Amino acid sequence: MKIICIGRNYTEHIEELENEKPSSPVIFMKPDSAVLPKQQDFYIPEFSKDVHHEVEVLVKIKKVGKHINERFAHKYYDEVSLGIDFTARDLQSQLKAKGLPWEKAKGFDGAAVIGKWHPKEEFGDLDNLDFRLLRNGDPVQHGNTSLMLWKIDELIAYVSTFFTLKKGDVIFTGTPAGVGRVQAEDRLTGYIQEKQIFDINIK
Ligand code: ZN
Repeated sequence: MKIICIGRNYTEHIEELENEKPSSPVIFMKPDSAVLPKQQDFYIPEFSKDVHHEVEVLVKIKKVGKHINERFAHKYYDEVSLGIDFTARDLQSQLKAKGLPWEKAKGFDGAAVIGKWHPKEEFGDLDNLDFRLLRNGDPVQHGNTSLMLWKIDELIAYVSTFFTLKKGDVIFTGTPAGVGRVQAEDRLTGYIQEKQIFDINIK
């Protein structure tokens, strides 16, 4: 199983990090070892003093596909979830400044939180999906997939021109504005509409 992540897919988040607006989706990967095991706490790694939460809508690929046409992309996934793309922002900034790959900052153990999967029918229009992240009960990120630069089906089509998608692969579709540092003893809860999708403790 591979994890494919989309960067810079929401304008306000691009602005908060002062990044350039991309002309095509930014793609990076996380290894399967990055998945935070279910019911496990997230431990801030020693190598970072600035780990950020990035809440993102997830889709799970259900069959093999390559060069998928956008019109048929919806046939390649049935389940949707919410997750966190944990990012060691200090390390990422150093790597970015040198033009080096980001993997160490985004692919470390536990850096991929995957919430409970739900059938996509439960949510109605996936291009108008409201989601949010609460930190210790306070809303810190609020997004809606209608604000994505590239929608879910466009992303699947684009990604599949480079990488064959396989059953069980997960796509992180990018984070809205409001990313920020996590601290030990924080509790992060994620919601799609009114459904709680994950609840994790930071150590
Ligand atoms: Zn992200």
